[in-house]
Amino acid sequence: MTTIDRLLAIIPTYLPHGDLNLVRRAHAFSSEAHKGQKRLTGEDYVEHSTRVAIILAERLRADIPTMIGGLLHDVIEDTGVTEVDVTEEFGKEVAALVVGCTVLHKVQYRGIERYIESMRKLFVAMAKDLRVILIKFADRLDNLQTLYAHTPEKSTRIARETLEIYAPIADRLGVGELKGDLEDCSFPYVYPKEYEIVKKAASDRLREKEKVVERITASTEEHLQHERMPFLAIHGRRKHLFRLYQKIIRHNPDLAQIENTLDQIYDLVAVRIIVETIPQCYAVLGLIHSFCTPLAGRIKDYIANPKPNGYQSLHTTVWCAVGKDEKLEVVEFQIRTQRMHNEAEYGMSTHWHYSEHGRSVAPKRNLAWVNELTKWKKELKENQQYLESLKIDVLQDRIFVRTPKGDWIDLPEGSTPVDFAYHVHSDLGNKCAHAKINGSFVPLETPLQNHDVVEIITDKKRKGPDPKWLAFVKTPSARTKIREKTKGVLFDWLKNIVTPKDDTAPKGIKKKTKNKA
Ligand code: MN
Repeated sequence: MTTIDRLLAIIPTYLPHGDLNLVRRAHAFSSEAHKGQKRLTGEDYVEHSTRVAIILAERLRADIPTMIGGLLHDVIEDTGVTEVDVTEEFGKEVAALVVGCTVLHKVQYRGIERYIESMRKLFVAMAKDLRVILIKFADRLDNLQTLYAHTPEKSTRIARETLEIYAPIADRLGVGELKGDLEDCSFPYVYPKEYEIVKKAASDRLREKEKVVERITASTEEHLQHERMPFLAIHGRRKHLFRLYQKIIRHNPDLAQIENTLDQIYDLVAVRIIVETIPQCYAVLGLIHSFCTPLAGRIKDYIANPKPNGYQSLHTTVWCAVGKDEKLEVVEFQIRTQRMHNEAEYGMSTHWHYSEHGRSVAPKRNLAWVNELTKWKKELKENQQYLESLKIDVLQDRIFVRTPKGDWIDLPEGSTPVDFAYHVHSDLGNKCAHAKINGSFVPLETPLQNHDVVEIITDKKRKGPDPKWLAFVKTPSARTKIREKTKGVLFDWLKNIVTPKDDTAPKGIKKKTKNKA
């Protein structure tokens, strides 16, 4: 099967009315434009563009304009074709996507400037149309698969940029599968030693665990059928290698002890069950607990409390008796509806919906931070400081903490009670005097842990924040608010030292100051 035939076969599986002729035309156009151009691997250039479109279809279920954008993503950059040509052939929408991809290519700086510049361009492009990023993700994933053709310096740089910029954005957009693939392809180039160690230590276990999970899956299926519980699918799911590596070093950074660490990680392979409705999710959870013993504290209800990127599922880790000898094995179950599953796999791309004219509009899903980006577009173009804030806000790992009333709040990792207070309300931050975590008093600079219950005790007489807090707060919003508030305080304090107030200052001093001047 040729690459374009593969693409044409995938599209109807999720877009029954997709215009395949238009896709064929775009492929012919790209083929003609890239005629004679070869990739470093020796293949025709258009093969790369077509594979990019396949990734968009297969992994992201992208709409037709995005796929055509994928087929054409390099024509303006690398051939004589212009924006006008693309507009005439495929319309403004597609042309804008291709131009978006072209702009992202032109990064001139090196080192840290290069990093900042490419991130700035990414955010500007995202704010205009998120689909540009999807094409860029697909382009990057295909390029990662042929990285060996580049020099070691270049391949490491591309892989590192993928881990540090692309993967966190993919995570925030909720395209979890693609994020995992981007990371796994980059892992050996950025951390070659660690990659070898993890691969060597984990591969036997993964294979063993997959056999165990196969048997558990079969017996669970029997239980479900016996209880007449409807389900759509049940299958084992192997953890991505880079995600496993991150989990390993969170448990114990010393890779010499990796075997011991792996003994404590229970979700190398998980059992995933997909059902139709939310009540069925909880019913299946109950059924599993009736024949397997859950481990204490390992039931996670991400349906009631979704992760910051919108991820929803029920997770439970249980002891399961396997085989004739009823050997006990620990395994994680993940239970979700089809909708939750699609969102976890394809993220925001499942949320494109179409107006009568067939043009896609903004995604329905609550992507507040992307809307923020749109507002910041102008500042992003002019101001690097906003970029720093974004880097912290958007790209950092998040933790979940709770208010005493039980509301969940997500904050960047390492946040303190002061960050929490400012996140809830500026006033709570400004009047913050003491903090309790899980009922005990703690210093205000204590880093919060996932699922902590945080209580802020205010002092009504307090005039404002302590400038010293700037040394430990993590969120840009807390930092800005403290700066704003303490600007006055610092100024007053300085003013008092330099020029004491007329009515309180002893006259002698005032005269002295004058004489000096
Ligand atoms: Mn490309």
